[in-house]
Amino acid sequence: MNAEQILSIIKTSEGCVFWPYCKFKTGYGNVRFNGKKMRAHRVVYLLTKGDIPDGLFVCHKCDNKDCINPDHLFLGTNSENILDASSKGRTRRSKLSEDDVSAIREITASRLMKQDDVVDMFKCSKATIWRVCNNLNYPVRKEIK
Ligand SMILES: [Zn+2]
Repeated sequence: MNAEQILSIIKTSEGCVFWPYCKFKTGYGNVRFNGKKMRAHRVVYLLTKGDIPDGLFVCHKCDNKDCINPDHLFLGTNSENILDASSKGRTRRSKLSEDDVSAIREITASRLMKQDDVVDMFKCSKATIWRVCNNLNYPVRKEIK
């Protein structure tokens, strides 16, 4: 969706404006914006009020997770911003997907990169890379489809 489409939903009423489309399991509105899946109320905040600083997240005065009325949104902190950060890849990723695992095996087998560079690239520990290369147990990320 584009900004205009999203903002046209807000214009339609006073009071809570409930996101009329798809929702995340968590109850937040789910919107594809700029090619990314985002929470609808965050997009509305970005469009109407501006940037959301790192470490802060958009809260609801009205406690309705799917409400996108900008007047009901404010920046706050709570434990949820940790979840949010990890979903956007801002936190260090420790688990690997199956694709990562095959890529790591290929890269290390071909000796194209130093192990330290592989560690950097996949944002996991040296021990994890070592375990992958030696076919031992390693943390695997469950892909959410
Ligand atoms: Zn509301």
